[in-house]
Amino acid sequence: MKLNKKLLISIPTVIAFLSLFIMVYINSTNLNMPFKNYSNFLKDVDNKIVRSVNLSPSSKIEIILNDGSKYLTDNPNSLNLKESLLKNNIEVNLNSSISKIQTVVSLSFIVSIIFIIAFFMSNRKTKGGISCIDTQDVSSSMANNFNFNSVAGNDEVKENVKDIVDYLRNPEKYKKYGARMPKGIILHGDPGTGKTLIAKAIAGEANVPFYAVSGSDFIQMYVGVGASRIRHLFKKAKSNKKAVIFIDEIDAIGKKRSNSTNGSSEEKDQTLNALLTEMSGFNESHNIVVIAATNRLDVLDSALLRPGRFDRHIEVALPDISAREKIISLHLKNKPYNNFNLKDLAIKTAYFSGAKIESLINEAAILACKENAPYITEYHLDKSFSNIIAGYEKIDKTSLTSKDKEITAYHEAGHALVSLLKLPNEKVSKISIIPTTKGAGGYTLSLPQDSNFQTMEYLTNKVMVFLGGRASEEIIFGEKNITTGAYNDLKQSTNIIYNMIAEYGMGESLGLIRVSGMPDEVKNASSKMIFDECKETIETLYLDTKNIILNNIDTLNVLAQSLMEKETLHHNEILNITKS
Ligand code: ADP
Ligand code: ZN
Repeated sequence: MKLNKKLLISIPTVIAFLSLFIMVYINSTNLNMPFKNYSNFLKDVDNKIVRSVNLSPSSKIEIILNDGSKYLTDNPNSLNLKESLLKNNIEVNLNSSISKIQTVVSLSFIVSIIFIIAFFMSNRKTKGGISCIDTQDVSSSMANNFNFNSVAGNDEVKENVKDIVDYLRNPEKYKKYGARMPKGIILHGDPGTGKTLIAKAIAGEANVPFYAVSGSDFIQMYVGVGASRIRHLFKKAKSNKKAVIFIDEIDAIGKKRSNSTNGSSEEKDQTLNALLTEMSGFNESHNIVVIAATNRLDVLDSALLRPGRFDRHIEVALPDISAREKIISLHLKNKPYNNFNLKDLAIKTAYFSGAKIESLINEAAILACKENAPYITEYHLDKSFSNIIAGYEKIDKTSLTSKDKEITAYHEAGHALVSLLKLPNEKVSKISIIPTTKGAGGYTLSLPQDSNFQTMEYLTNKVMVFLGGRASEEIIFGEKNITTGAYNDLKQSTNIIYNMIAEYGMGESLGLIRVSGMPDEVKNASSKMIFDECKETIETLYLDTKNIILNNIDTLNVLAQSLMEKETLHHNEILNITKS
């Protein structure tokens, strides 16, 4: 809260307390006054010892006698009381000074309370979504503490955003070439993989203000509020020459639009539209980059992903073993530690996100501190490790992990091996057993050759590469131990085979006939034939794939072993391993 706001709220607060105090005081002095029954008061009137009466609307009235003493009596609230008193030569004060004070005091109490309530209500309205950008200097200086050295590992991501930093640093250079920078980047990946950190690092490296909001702040708001917050956010950002806007959890506003027309989805649409409008409203003079983060790219509305919007998508993956070692040493920097091997810890923390590693080390530091130990040691880390694992998982994950790792390693090695043998022109650029957000246990990336069409031979080989994962699992672990890991592979290979037979005229049962678009009778009549041929084809290809793997089982073993050790293998490493 700013200083003048504090002043604004402290004045009515003081007044409210003061009035409360005065009211209590007046009441207590009133209470100290003696009290007489009304009938006794009337006797006093008859005895002519009453000098004056202070009439007021309250329940008690104040009586002053000739000798100066005072007392209270019940207020009869009668209209002719005043007349009868005057007839008796008694002075009548309609508004005693006390009751005047009372009125003023209670009025000022009410007014200041109303003011305080109004103040907090209006303050709450501006909070939430963009309160963090109310004071822009704070958020920009926040990002100033971050740069690419704050992010360990994630080298490919850093490489991918370098030009953005360069552009934010000297946009003139890019303008000379007429180059348009991406307006929006989406960082996608598991929670805790460092997406926010990277966004801050980009702003920090470029030394520009950093505005952060979260998509979840926009849900469950009244229609129109989210949209106006977006406009406000962009207005703020545009008031700087350069800025980074970070929208965490973009899926909360940018999910694929559904047909349901309830209030919350209408609100989402309005917010999303406001975002899209603002982004298309940028021109050359606005050097603003919008970075959005999500755990899942596939749920986002395609309108968001179109060119000119968030057209650069960067996956932020879970760290592999060498990245984990870097993250560990980054978070141990400036902490006293002794007597343990960073590499061992990196091995142990398989499938940990950067955030999980950070909390592991922080927990160990707290344990060491509690014990007044001179250093963080392996003992503290072990203890913290068990705490973290217990927090995340009920069962012992370490034993599970090593078995999981082995299965995934053989599965991916199977894909890679078949790819190397059957599609030698496709470069296998990377194999990893680190899971991705797409739900796969690991992945094998190959770069297909550029071509306008695909040959029948290519398609069959491609199917064999897809089947290589399951085939390897079956050969190594036995028929009964095959896993669900091949789910997506089977989906893809079935698709290819079906299309070959039903769409591309590459099968036997239909020949050159293409059934889609034909009358239902034709489709129904041919469906069994198509099914049978698909089944036969995939079974033959699966047998072939198993044979290829069996004939090269040594290479499979070496690939799988080094995958287990290093978790990620790049092109050159793969070539080195398979050459020998
Ligand atoms: P996300 O936005 O992907 O959920 P964050 O960027 O919020 O993840 O990461 C949370 C914390 O985890 C960071 O503040 C940092 O301490 C730690 N962390 C995550 N990834 C890394 C990394 N690559 N290098 C260093 N620290 C990391
Ligand atoms: Zn697979």
